[in-house]
Parts: sequence; structure tokens; C-alpha cells
Amino acid sequence: MMEKVIRFNLTIEPGQQGSYFTVPFEVPQGIESLELTYEYPRRLKRKEEQPGEIFTATPETNIVDLGLIAPDGRQVGASGSEKTRILVSEQYATPGYGARTVSAGRWQVIVGAYQVAPEGVEVLYEITLKEKSLRLLKGDTHVHSIASDGVHTFEELALKAKANGLDFLAVTDHNVFLPAASIPYVPGITMIPGVEWTHYQGHANFLGIDAPYDEPFFTNSVEEARSRFTCAHERCALITINHPFEGNSRFLFDFRQLPFDCLEVWNGPMRESNLKAVGLWQQMLSSGMRVAITGGSDYHRDTPFIFLGGPTMGVYALSAGMSDILSALRKGHSYITFAPDGPSIEMRAGEGIMGDQVDWQEEKELRVRLQGLQAGDVVLVVTAQENAAVFTATSEGELDFAYEMREPGFARVEVLRAFLPGLPLLPALMSNPIYFKA
Ligand SMILES: [Zn+2]
Ligand SMILES: [Zn+2]
Repeated sequence: MMEKVIRFNLTIEPGQQGSYFTVPFEVPQGIESLELTYEYPRRLKRKEEQPGEIFTATPETNIVDLGLIAPDGRQVGASGSEKTRILVSEQYATPGYGARTVSAGRWQVIVGAYQVAPEGVEVLYEITLKEKSLRLLKGDTHVHSIASDGVHTFEELALKAKANGLDFLAVTDHNVFLPAASIPYVPGITMIPGVEWTHYQGHANFLGIDAPYDEPFFTNSVEEARSRFTCAHERCALITINHPFEGNSRFLFDFRQLPFDCLEVWNGPMRESNLKAVGLWQQMLSSGMRVAITGGSDYHRDTPFIFLGGPTMGVYALSAGMSDILSALRKGHSYITFAPDGPSIEMRAGEGIMGDQVDWQEEKELRVRLQGLQAGDVVLVVTAQENAAVFTATSEGELDFAYEMREPGFARVEVLRAFLPGLPLLPALMSNPIYFKA
């Protein structure tokens, strides 16, 4: 990961004691985290050693306080002189500072000259800006806690998800909004607030905001439902239509009349209702629609077939911050795999990755790299016309191949696996498509 470092020295004169001032610095686009450290001589080195004395106390002669202001003019935090290192990112900030995106613009260091020695003090500031870069993150987009009918607290879920190898987790309780502030921070895992709109006519996840709508959840017509969905969309929630063919909780409203971002085609263990959802998705793609898919475990408690990350979303995100993860899901820069340690995929056509559109006149070659395959895995390239190419893995490990698009449309990849000898092949991985525009 690339970093930009800004260093500056500040000389504070004794006459400035008791005053506050700010020092501006510029943050460019595309920064994931900001770390600020500062140092200065707190105690002057004129200690008089007293023979026989254990302690030699010298008064603190310099005290310089710290705070930070964002480009919007708001205070990000203030820490007196206690902390000499602070970190700010979207998913975490040093206590006393608010977690927030490190947006581009003019930030300011707050300098509090609380106490200054007669000779003045020189303070060295160092600001390290970590740049965003595309990385693969794994997560689960559909999980229940004790706030509805799950059995675990948020913290337990976060720790379990981390132990399962996940990087992010969306908590989606039934008709219960979970403000981000109510979700504890667990290092190494990005928690995404959400709600599963759970309705007799269908279920949908609203991810990434504290309150997607102001009214109660229930509606009695598709028009009323549309008003909830539209409000959530305007507030930038990511909306997924959940398990559209699942028994009593299938989607009865025509969800194509509702605004949504993604279709959850893989809910918990692979089964008939999921395969139907994949079939519907394929029809939608073939009719020219562009629909990104998601998968989520719908985890409530551990059972033999249900676990956090079953299935797992593999997401190519620019940072581990929630907004970059949701943006990648929205764009379909993602794939679904049956478990956190399931196979993974990279797909490219020119500059495009999964979910992107490329110009077919200029770019006809789809390049695919699969990892974590097992011998016997069947790899399909699926287009509007057909299962356009089939490979069978002869050994475990990686497979690299290229596929030539003979006409515009879309191409996506599925990996099928016999999970036990003699069992039929079931999806082990499903990618979002790359779209080849005519
Ligand atoms: Zn549901
Ligand atoms: Zn659910």
C-alpha cells in the first residue's frame, strides 16, 4: 500500500502560551486513513541530579495540545496533550476522535499552546496518509443478531466472523434499525449497519445507513413499498432483494417495480430456491438488464449447514471502509463463494473487472484467474446464449484462461463442484458479469 507523508515543524514562541491556532494541510483524493503523530520536548533537560535521591522531579515545561478539523470545518476530535498518535479512518478512529472518511480537502491541526518554556518550543508533526488500493475482502451481507431472532450479540458476531476469516459483516435484523453507533468496533472487521425489511410480500436488505425510512416498515401495496424503497435509495442505502423464491418468505410484489441495487441469489446453503433465483437472474441479464448479485448466510445460529460466511461475498473494494465495500457490491465488483475458504476469482476485460462494462469493439477477450479449485471442479463461462465454455480442473489449485466474446453481451463464470462423491454438481462460486457493450 502506498503512503504519502507530510512533515512540518512548528516553533511556538513563549508569547503564544495560552492561545490556540490551526495549521492547515491538504489531503488529496483516494485516502483511506490518516495517522498523525507529534513530538516536542516536554521536559527541559536541566535536571539537577541529587546524589542519593531516587527521584528527580522536573516540572513539565512544555504542553502542546492536539485536535483535528475536517475540510467541512467540523472538529474530528481533540485529545489535549495525552495522545501523541491518532488515527482516523472510516471504520475506526482513536478514542476521542470520530471515525469518518478521510475526504479530500484542507484539514487543520488544532494546536493548543497550553504551556511554553521561556525559550519557546519546536513541535514536529508527521501525517501519514494511506492511499486506497483495490483489494479482495470477504464478508457476509445477511446476518441476524439478538436484536431480532438471532442468538448472538453484535460483538459475538464480529468475533465469530473474524474467526471465520471474514473482513466485513452486515447485520440485518428483521425490521429493526441498527444505528452504526450501536455496533461495537472490533479490529479487523468492518461492521455494516442494516435492516432486513421483512414483509409478508417479500424481504429486502437496506444496508449502510442508520435509518432508511422514517415510517413504520409495513406497507399494504406495492406503491407504499416503493415509497419506503425510494426513500432508502435517496438516503444511499444499498438495497438487496432477498431470497426471492424462498417458501413463505418469497417476494410476492413484482420487485422490478421497486428500486433496488442487488439480487440475493444465494441465501444460506445452496438449494432449489437459490437455483431458481439464479435462473431468474440469468433471464434478466439475457434480456439486457444489468443486475448485480449478492449472497448472504442469513445466519441466526450455528447449525450443521449454516455458518457465518456460508456463502461468502468476495468483494474487490478500494478500502476496508464501509462505503467502499458497499460501492463495490453496488457495482458488482464481487463474486459469491460457498465458504470463506472457497475458490476465488479475478476477471478482467481490458481495464474492466467484474461488474464493469467494456466496449466490445475494442475489447473482446475475457481473462479469468481462479484459485482454490479442486480436481473435478467444472468451470463455466455463461453468456446470454449458452454455457459458452467449459473447463474441468484436473488438479487442485489455479486455473488461468481467456475466453473470446464473439458478440456483445455479458459473460460470467460459475464453478460447479461435487461436494461429496456421487452428489450432483452444485455451485461453489458464482461471479458477477462483465458487460460487453455493442
Ligand atoms: Zn429473509
Ligand atoms: Zn434474514
